[in-house]
Amino acid sequence: MTDPTTRAGLRPRFWENVPLKSLTPQEWEALCDGCGKCCLNKLEDADTGEIAFTRVACRLLDDESCRCGNYQIRKTLVPECVVLSPRNIGEIAYWMPSTCAYRLRHEGKPLPDWHPLVSGDPESVHRAGESVRGWSVPEFEVPEEDWEDYIVEGEL
Ligand code: SF4
Ligand code: SF4
Repeated sequence: MTDPTTRAGLRPRFWENVPLKSLTPQEWEALCDGCGKCCLNKLEDADTGEIAFTRVACRLLDDESCRCGNYQIRKTLVPECVVLSPRNIGEIAYWMPSTCAYRLRHEGKPLPDWHPLVSGDPESVHRAGESVRGWSVPEFEVPEEDWEDYIVEGEL
């Protein structure tokens, strides 16, 4: 699958100087670094409320491209998929991966050098080891009761 993101014709360095709520739909989409981490299934500790990512990925995630296999109709195919928007980022950011560009911008932090918008290269996220390429497991291979055996150690 080729990189689906259009980065041409966007405002120069919009990711630094335009608030999230003022991004155009195209800029909003381009902000995604293509890491695929948010498509990993998560477990919540019932006592502490802590969220842990697992290596078990949503059934639509392509482990090579780290992109959704059917982005346009993802919510129909996977009702539990959370569609990020400027309206809900405030409630969702806390459980997104720490490197997620939406979370970083929501928290007023800069994008890392490996972000495709900064590097100009969609492969840079993978080269930096910041994507799920090659290490996720499709959810149809792992029963839910075994997900805790796949918890990712450390921060994503
Ligand atoms: S974690 Fe954030 S930057 Fe990475 S794929 Fe998900 S939405 Fe995009
Ligand atoms: S439906 Fe697509 S975007 Fe949503 S979690 Fe699954 S792979 Fe990710």
